[in-house]
Amino acid sequence: MKKGRSSVLLQLLEALSNKKKQKVQSSPRGEYYDLQEIFNVLNEKYFANKVDLPLQWFGRRDFRPRQRIVLGSYHLDKRVIRIHRILDKEHVPYHVVSFVVYHEMLHHVLPPIKGKKRRRKIHHPEFVRREKLFVEYALAREGIELLLQP
Ligand SMILES: [Zn+2]
Repeated sequence: MKKGRSSVLLQLLEALSNKKKQKVQSSPRGEYYDLQEIFNVLNEKYFANKVDLPLQWFGRRDFRPRQRIVLGSYHLDKRVIRIHRILDKEHVPYHVVSFVVYHEMLHHVLPPIKGKKRRRKIHHPEFVRREKLFVEYALAREGIELLLQP
């Protein structure tokens, strides 16, 4: 069975990690975007400046996505937001990077809840509701889809 486009998109954004081994040394300042600046704007606009988390880039800027790629992640234990360097480029719209950072900030604010059969629900209804409050939501989703076209 072939997976639909939308389920692929969901996977792109998914990366809640509990892995112990992760290299954590990287500045929020990229070649083109500064994650700290983006974070600060979001923090004021959507979170009343209440979120305080370190930010890092990971991956290679010249990485070529095929079917799926993790664009961002939030580490539950280390409390670090990591954004893929593939987004650190001039042709990637600001609202796309901003949306991925926003998504990971939401993971911090809205932790997973326990669903049926003890299954962890990461993108639970409240999460989805809050995600859609992002002003350029539709544009950002569209931009991500464009990015991943061959
Ligand atoms: Zn997510």
